[in-house]
Amino acid sequence: MKTINEPAREIKVRADVDVLVVGGGPAGIMAAEAAARDGKLKVMLIESRGYLGGNLTIGLPILAYLGPKGNQVVKGSAEKFYQRLRARNAASEHKPCKLHMSLTIIDPDEAKTVAWQMLDEAGVEVLMYVFATDAIVEDGRIKGVIIESKAGREAILAKTVIDCTGDGDVAFRAGVECHKGDEKGGMQPPTLMYCLKGVDVQRLRDAITEEPEKFDMDVMPHEQFRKGKFITVGLRGRINEARKAGIDIPVDRTILITGLADDEIWVNMTRVNGVDPTDPSSYTRGEHDARKQIYSVTEYLRRFVPGFEKAYMVRSAAFTGIRESRVIVGKYVFTAEDILQGRHFDDAIAVGGYPVDIHHAEGGDCTMIFCDDAYQIPYGTLVPANVEGLLVAGRCSSMNHEAMAATRVMSTCMALGEAAGTAARIALEDGVDPSKVDVKRVQKALLENGAYLG
Ligand SMILES: Cc1cc2nc3c(=O)[nH]c(=O)nc-3n(C[C@H](O)[C@H](O)[C@H](O)COP(=O)(O)OP(=O)(O)OC[C@H]3O[C@@H](n4cnc5c(N)ncnc54)[C@H](O)[C@@H]3O)c2cc1C
Repeated sequence: MKTINEPAREIKVRADVDVLVVGGGPAGIMAAEAAARDGKLKVMLIESRGYLGGNLTIGLPILAYLGPKGNQVVKGSAEKFYQRLRARNAASEHKPCKLHMSLTIIDPDEAKTVAWQMLDEAGVEVLMYVFATDAIVEDGRIKGVIIESKAGREAILAKTVIDCTGDGDVAFRAGVECHKGDEKGGMQPPTLMYCLKGVDVQRLRDAITEEPEKFDMDVMPHEQFRKGKFITVGLRGRINEARKAGIDIPVDRTILITGLADDEIWVNMTRVNGVDPTDPSSYTRGEHDARKQIYSVTEYLRRFVPGFEKAYMVRSAAFTGIRESRVIVGKYVFTAEDILQGRHFDDAIAVGGYPVDIHHAEGGDCTMIFCDDAYQIPYGTLVPANVEGLLVAGRCSSMNHEAMAATRVMSTCMALGEAAGTAARIALEDGVDPSKVDVKRVQKALLENGAYLG
């Protein structure tokens, strides 16, 4: 590989804060709000895009506010975020679902607004359009990050950094050990979400409820589709028919999500295998291929799925969504066994209710492994094994491939974010490293904010 030498140079320190949150997705929003909550700390959140929300903005429902037993297992700030959306008529109820535990439809644009409102009220300084490119580490302790923007290369110094980039960008640059994917490095594929209008949702509902053999659903009983919002996962037979008719479809299951408007469906069916989101060439190929797939998937829906005859595309997500990327190795690596055995953790800081849901790295199918009940997630998953002053929350926390396939849903990521922000705040108040924080104090603060810890 050709390389050049970049000369050392002096760069400007743009800010010096108590807590710096990198990444404004579900985890980052909650982390920043929790860190700033009592108004004593200077908290900054930086985001590479021009809006907050990360994957909350790409047309996805928030899954698993409810757990397998039907009780609500994600509360606290994540529930407060939902209540704000609800007050703006921008969210559905938390609807129970056999496959997803629960689904909560949200308006992706209102999510951006509500996130910013929450951070404004908490006093968080938000800086957009900056990309964290490196970590400043001295003697095994993070001191801040290097950012790049139209203003050039600058530094932001911080007593504590919370990496909520989804890709563990800061942790990786700080020298934290990271992993990607399964034992062969295979990662769950990305998807470009898009939205169709002009859908006769009642016709689709009727087809599933009246002819369940022809319009088959995975796991979900057809009664679930009689009323309210829904997600289809199935119609495998329809896909087989369409493939016989020569339509190229990248997935084996038809995943359709009702929007808030009556004739709106969000389509979760593009899929590009083999994409590494940390390599821009690979991610670009993902964007390119996924965009082309929109047209064959829509042809399939129009010709083979009732209700889509007059459907037309109104928007696609601003970016192809990443299901899986780097995860860190933390003080504790959370596993599928922890989930399936419902292991108890004295240092539990969040509870997840979503099953293990692995979109295969190859082919077009998925494996789901259901758990009997919700599961606790320990604090050690947020704490890197070897760098002080750093916490990592969201889909890049310390999980193995299978566990991450469960904890990656946005409700759980929000709960992890709130826990990280709370721990950062309490550690600074007590003058200790986040790795040495009194977890009982963190748990008490989380419970006081309405969180559920099992
Ligand atoms: C196609 C798809 C379907 C899914 N379906 C569902 C579903 O139905 N329901 C559900 O609940 N979950 C679903 N998920 C999972 C869920 O969306 C994600 O796992 C979750 O959003 C992760 O949250 P996060 O905050 O960790 O990361 P993200 O949502 O990825 O947010 C990370 C943020 O950090 C910013 N960022 C990244 N790097 C940098 C950097 N270096 N500097 C500055 N900013 C940076 C990004 O711009 C982004 O805003 C799905 C995911 C995908 C991709």
